[in-house]
Amino acid sequence: MPSRVLYSIRSCSRISLLRSHIPARSWYSTAAASSTPGQPELYDVVCVGGGPAGLSLVAGLRSSKITSNLKIALVEGQDLQKNVLKDASPTIYSNRCSSLTPASVKYLREIGAWDHIDTSRVQPYQEMQVWDGVSDSRISFDWASASGLALKQPVDRTTIAYMIENLNLTTALLSRLSELDSKLSISSPTRVSSVELGQETEALDLRSWPTVTLDNGRQLAARLLVGADGANSPVRTFAGIPSRGWDYGRHGVVASLRLEGPGWGGEEHKIAYQRFLPTGPVAMLPLPGNMATLVWSTVPERAARLKALKEEDFVAMVNAAFRLSPVDLEYLHTIPEGQKEEVEWREQHTPVDEQKIPMRAVGAQAGSVANFPLKMRHADTYTGERVALVGDAAHTVHPLAGQGLNQGQADAAALVRVIETAVSQGSDIGSQLALEAYTGERWQANNALLGAVDKLHKLYSFGSGPIVPVRSWGLSAVNAIGPLKGWFMRQAAGT
Ligand SMILES: Cc1cc2nc3c(=O)[nH]c(=O)nc-3n(C[C@H](O)[C@H](O)[C@H](O)COP(=O)(O)OP(=O)(O)OC[C@H]3O[C@@H](n4cnc5c(N)ncnc54)[C@H](O)[C@@H]3O)c2cc1C
Repeated sequence: MPSRVLYSIRSCSRISLLRSHIPARSWYSTAAASSTPGQPELYDVVCVGGGPAGLSLVAGLRSSKITSNLKIALVEGQDLQKNVLKDASPTIYSNRCSSLTPASVKYLREIGAWDHIDTSRVQPYQEMQVWDGVSDSRISFDWASASGLALKQPVDRTTIAYMIENLNLTTALLSRLSELDSKLSISSPTRVSSVELGQETEALDLRSWPTVTLDNGRQLAARLLVGADGANSPVRTFAGIPSRGWDYGRHGVVASLRLEGPGWGGEEHKIAYQRFLPTGPVAMLPLPGNMATLVWSTVPERAARLKALKEEDFVAMVNAAFRLSPVDLEYLHTIPEGQKEEVEWREQHTPVDEQKIPMRAVGAQAGSVANFPLKMRHADTYTGERVALVGDAAHTVHPLAGQGLNQGQADAAALVRVIETAVSQGSDIGSQLALEAYTGERWQANNALLGAVDKLHKLYSFGSGPIVPVRSWGLSAVNAIGPLKGWFMRQAAGT
């Protein structure tokens, strides 16, 4: 690989200021120039990554009157056509689900993507029950009990968030894109194999333009290169933007579960449950009917053992996670099998108020138990000369607050606005000057959330000691103070 691949975009910004580049007004001439033999194809925006953040960004740009004429290329390493919602059976759900905040739903409506969502597979929930697995102190969230709310954006005042399969979202975004136009260049399954700066020829000076080489040999030069390419972002590496943080030493175990009934509130009032255990939180979130999705954050050895259990023992462990003491759970994790009988026996000696915990799981969908390593990362900045990062490429957060995907939607919305402003003013959409507003709007907001989630994770990692009564008191205090509770709910709703 030539050494210039490693050039930082920032180190080249001085050169790009001294040298003339393609004038900002030549949006459409780039299309004509793209057919020049031996030259890379020229695009206004090349977006690497067709996950929720990348698709949302491209759909946002395509659906805006101001930016719809930009020449855009989307590059995705996986096969987007295979990665769509195919099995619409009401008893089969993908194990990768997210809670979409009302703010994300609002943006998806604005860009016309929500109309393409299969809403029969989306479950709004109206209440959240969160409790400390060690002290049992509890907080419940619903809009009615949270007074003092001053919402910046209109939201459905009963819904806290909407559980949705990630596939349902990406399928809808793809369908919105094909409705908008067929001009968008989509390369999938195609991986970016390298990114380097372009060259100067007689016709063009592309020395400040990132040029992406695809694994099929095509080369795309970008006025603006967007990294929506996930936590290990090759675009971020190319731009030389450091990303800092740590691994949690935890894995998120996910599964699609079948419950014995639709939940305590029935079909009309759904509740999301999260119990903080010393190894990490376990959450059961409602899906339509009597389905639910599990996210259980625990140490890697336990995650591997949970995944290896046969279905009846896995289901028993899930029920135990919401009912039995951390000490009981610790023991149950050490036995290789027979959890079902062991849990049944222990439950007889552990009184619980069933109305305050999720309904019992009675089955786990075959093949749905999986685990993902959890980490916290934050890029030092989201922009460089002709580069912007969105979604997990910019930040990765512990899933305990269900915010990672939502942060990516907010990034996409903000970057679309910044590009709209640059286009309206006739300025260069790739210039640092134009892009700075994007970092300004999103970095601080994401940093505050990353910090809060990280502290919550640490606070609840203590299984004993003086911190336990203090955090229990904190939970009870927040539960009792309406306006404070309202503040937490506004953060969760993204409003
Ligand atoms: C267990 C768990 C539960 C979660 N629950 C929630 C939740 O409830 N709510 C929530 O908001 N968030 C949640 N999240 C976080 C959420 O899943 C992520 O934040 C979100 O999926 C990130 O989307 P993205 O588009 O930024 O990145 P990704 O989904 O990672 O997409 C990046 C894309 O880039 C592509 N790519 C990478 N490299 C290349 C390359 N070289 N060439 C071409 N393409 C490339 C990849 O193929 C991929 O499709 C959860 C995460 C976990 C692990």
